[in-house]
This record gives sequence, C-alpha cells and structure tokens, in this order.
Amino acid sequence: PNELLLYCRPGFEADLAAEMLEKAALSGIGGTPRFERGGGHVRFEVVDGTSANEMHRALPLASLVFARQSLVALPPLTLDRADRLGAIMAQVRGSGWSCEAVWQETPDTNDAKALAGLIKALKRPLEAQLRKAGVLRRKAGGRRLHLLWSDGDRVQLGMSFPGNRCEQLGGIRRLRFPSRAPSRSTLKLEEAWHEFVPAEQWPTRLSDGMQAADLGAAPGGWTWQLVQRGMQVFAIDNGPMDPELMTSGLVEHLREDGFVWTPPARLDWLVCDIVDKPSRVITMVERWLTRRWCREAVFNLKLPMKRRWEAVSEGLRRLSTSLARAGVKAEIACRHLYHDREEVTVHVRLLD
Ligand code: SAM
Repeated sequence: PNELLLYCRPGFEADLAAEMLEKAALSGIGGTPRFERGGGHVRFEVVDGTSANEMHRALPLASLVFARQSLVALPPLTLDRADRLGAIMAQVRGSGWSCEAVWQETPDTNDAKALAGLIKALKRPLEAQLRKAGVLRRKAGGRRLHLLWSDGDRVQLGMSFPGNRCEQLGGIRRLRFPSRAPSRSTLKLEEAWHEFVPAEQWPTRLSDGMQAADLGAAPGGWTWQLVQRGMQVFAIDNGPMDPELMTSGLVEHLREDGFVWTPPARLDWLVCDIVDKPSRVITMVERWLTRRWCREAVFNLKLPMKRRWEAVSEGLRRLSTSLARAGVKAEIACRHLYHDREEVTVHVRLLD
C-alpha cells in the first residue's frame, strides 16, 4: 500500500490535508493529499519510496490534530453493485493482509448514513468469505480491517494497528449527554479527558479534593464535569451560572475577566472555553503555565478563520517555544474532538 486514509469532520478536509503535507514534509516524506470537500476523509498518497506503513508510524494518530482515524490503505474501489464482494475479496487477497476484526464504516456525512442497511446486509457474507480466505483469523497482531463506504458502489479498504488508531467506530467517541449538566458543551471537556487522560489515571489526575479554574465557565457545563470528579472550582465568568450546579457547594463563582484573573494558590487544573482569538488564549495559558499556576490544562482554540491548520500550528508552536524558553517541561497535545465544531482542544501537562 502507498497511501493513508484519514477520517475527519466533514468540512475540515483541507485543514487535515494541509496538516498532513506539513508534517510529512517535516519527516522528510513527500506525498499528495486527495479529498472531496465535505467528504469527511482525506487520502494521502506517499511518494519517493516511503511506504505508507512508515508514514503511518512516523505520524501517529495521537500527534495529528484534524484526523479522527488513520489507516494504511489500498486504492479506492468502484464496485459492480451486483457483486460487491468479488472485487473486495480480490483486492484483500492481492494485498496479503490478515486481520482479527472487520469494521465497516462511513464518513460522518448525512448521505453516508443511508448506507447502514447495505453494511448490515454485507456483514455476514463478508466475514464468512474473509474467514474462508484465511484473511480474518484469530491471531493477526490485533490488526483490524476497515471498509470505508462513501456510496453503495464506492469503498476503500484500510488497516489499523493497535496503539496507533482510534478504537471507536468512525473515529467518533459518542458520549451520552448527562441530563443534569447545564449545557451541551459539557461533552467537550468529558471527551477531552477520555482523549488525553488514560482511564487508569483518572483516579489520580481527576480526583476528589483537587482544585480547578474554569475560565468562561457560564452556564457551567465544564464546571459540572469538574464537580462530578469532586473538584473545587473557581468559575470565572460575568454571566450567570446554573443555580442547581451552585448548590454543590464546590463552586465559587467570580464575575471577573478570565484573561486577567490570577488564582489565589497553585491549582491542579485550568480549563478555558472562552470564545476569543487563539493568540489571546495562548498568551493567557502561557502565563499560567510558565508560572506553574496549574499542573494540567484543557482549552479550546476557536477557529472561525479560513486557514485553520495554519492558525493551530502557529499557536502550538508559540506555546511550545515559550514553555521551552521558560524551562518548563510539558506534554502538549491537540485534537479536533468529535464534540468540537469550529475549534480544537489543547491539553498541556507539566512534567516536573
Ligand atoms: N464551557 C461553558 C459551559 O460548558 O457551559 C460554556 C462557555 S461559553 C462557550 C463562553 C463563555 O465565556 C461565556 O459564558 C462568556 O460570558 C465567557 N467569557 C467571554 N469572555 C470572557 C472573559 N474575558 N472572561 C471570562 N469569561 C468570558
């Protein structure tokens, strides 16, 4: 295979393509991104003798911002609707691939949702044929075969590998909206924690008795998540907080400017969902982190502009440069989460 197949939120293909081009070039890999606007996925063809597997390892999914899933892929197929499995089986056999599981998926578009019936009907015969051909088997290094259907006669096959993939169908972590949370935004912080804090570390990194600041907190969706973890929260916002949330006794609501407020002591968490220019948010976060006012931070960068990848890339570069200059060791990660729209979520964790 000489291409990667990457899933993204529809409308963000150009951003993902720009990101891939820049990051591949930094790794010395040349290639060509291909996508349809609104198609919810990007193909990246690798050139110059690099294999797609090398590129897949060189640019792990966790290091990408706009990709929801990353697969090593075979060229897309256009199928004869009377015999879809024929061409699929021929391509898999030719690839020499084996896998332990098969996932059929569609891009995150409305059109593609209509393919659910087809996918269901194909599941058993597809798996039976793959098993019979020795492709689908018990021990295959945890590899998973993905079929991305963009139409009833258009499919692309890709392979994912444990440790470098999203474990959710379609690369989408669906979360149930907690009925008592004050706003839908609550899901952004919850998803961020799933993304950035390994489940086994929740008890130590998101725990009872910790202190947090929530800048731009109203009406309190993010504060609600912090309170659910038993944290004490400074909720900074001129706007009103949800009265029921305030009865927890864990929230102190301060009607102040989140860009200038300073915490009374070192805190464990800073979270910020203020809608403002990315550069302004980064400047504020830099101040918090270089003074070690918190250990971990989650914040959004809002992206109303056209060239979203450039804005993200510039912001992250600035942040890592200023932390390094201040001698602050930190892990920085940034992802376009499923519950994010025109924004991305950044996580920073101080390392010493
Ligand atoms: N995360 C919140 C939730 O889950 O309910 C929603 C936050 S909303 C997107 C942005 C909030 O930022 C608004 O309530 C607004 O009043 C507040 N805001 C805007 N500028 C601010 C500033 N300079 N300081 C503090 N809050 C600000």
